[in-house]
Amino acid sequence: MTSLNEQEGFRPTGQRSKVGRCTLCGARARLTKAHVPPKAAFNNRSFSWGGATADSQLVYGRPRLGGANLYAHCEPCRVATSPWDDEYIRWAYSFANVLVNSPLKGERTQIVGTLSGVRPGRFIRSALAGMTALAPKLLDSHPDLVRAVRQGTPSSPTDDLRFLVAVAPDGAAATVEGAHEALALKMSFDDEDGSGWKTETAPTISAVIHFPPFSLLLADRQLAASLPHLDCTDWLNLGVDDEANVQIVLPVVDLPKTPNAPVPVSMLRFAEARA
Ligand SMILES: [Zn+2]
Repeated sequence: MTSLNEQEGFRPTGQRSKVGRCTLCGARARLTKAHVPPKAAFNNRSFSWGGATADSQLVYGRPRLGGANLYAHCEPCRVATSPWDDEYIRWAYSFANVLVNSPLKGERTQIVGTLSGVRPGRFIRSALAGMTALAPKLLDSHPDLVRAVRQGTPSSPTDDLRFLVAVAPDGAAATVEGAHEALALKMSFDDEDGSGWKTETAPTISAVIHFPPFSLLLADRQLAASLPHLDCTDWLNLGVDDEANVQIVLPVVDLPKTPNAPVPVSMLRFAEARA
């Protein structure tokens, strides 16, 4: 059986309550836990978390069992969208198999291949449903996109937000993050020219599921151009039951390790990696 190394990483989402606003339909309801990525896609072991809470406090948690998950979807939305996780899980296993069991293991900077008879419209919606859990504001800023996810029917993709795909190597630290319409701030002290504290800002990536074997991002079109990932937003043109053959050339990418404190992904740079 294919298995990846145990995941460790952080998610900067803080805790959310059991009753709240569903991130897929907007109803105030009792919420169910969304596993991001799906639990059976290797997201079932210990996972530490940290980052910024709603009141901008930095928190850092101990690894917990049960994987990365949070309260996000009402029961009808969970029932409607969670069946699509089967496609995500299927892809995760076939990519893990390619990463772990190939004689080329550890040598490839990209993964090239054809996926035959797969359902890309199902995979992208499973991933995006998880991303709405990470970035609840998507429902307000991009209601058409979230509706396209919820309904599962062929849709014209939104123009300004792009769904980006790459491969994260086995053993890469997992990061699950949501920072839609935010600004990442980095302060540094510059002693050399006597100017003192400097502040650097960067527009944030809306949602990040950097969780082997995939590195999945939702990012503004302008930001997307500077990321090494492959733009796969067009998969929304297919419905959840449509089969297709997909030719892919996916770069292998990873993030620098940040052991001392959680750092927003938008302040880091995705680097070429080998898998
Ligand atoms: Zn709902």
